[in-house]
Amino acid sequence: MILDIRTFGDPVLREKCAPVTEIDDEVRRLAADMQETMYDADGIGLAAPQVGVPIRLFVYDVRQEGISPGVLVNPEIVEEEGAVKEEEGCLSIPGLSETVERSESIVARGLGLDGEPVEIRADGILSRCIQHEKDHLDGILFLDRVSPLKRKILLAKWRKQERD
Ligand code: ZN
Repeated sequence: MILDIRTFGDPVLREKCAPVTEIDDEVRRLAADMQETMYDADGIGLAAPQVGVPIRLFVYDVRQEGISPGVLVNPEIVEEEGAVKEEEGCLSIPGLSETVERSESIVARGLGLDGEPVEIRADGILSRCIQHEKDHLDGILFLDRVSPLKRKILLAKWRKQERD
């Protein structure tokens, strides 16, 4: 089922999401719906609060050869190295993008939908995607990671876009 993607201004995007305590059928259904929603919106990642559910889970598919799509439950970033600036956007802030500095490579840990521990060593687009989605679970948006001046410009653009 394709879910509604919440957009900037919706308070759920600012929530500190709760850990998933049990990976049951409801959680698995949500993850499947989120994957469908992500593909429908042509995104490479989607976090649960973006569909209005403030729990710690995201789905991703960076569509790069050799990197399988996946779901990460209760993710933590346990190692970070380097820094890299790249253009970034967000399904919850359609129409806007900006250069965002992120760690270059990371190690993320969490659980898969089978409840088994997962460890992901990532760089490039997958590293950026995981950092962006993990931020969503803490109520952080890419707008929060740009300079105050750039944020001001982006917010003005957003208001204009909303008005038109
Ligand atoms: Zn996003």
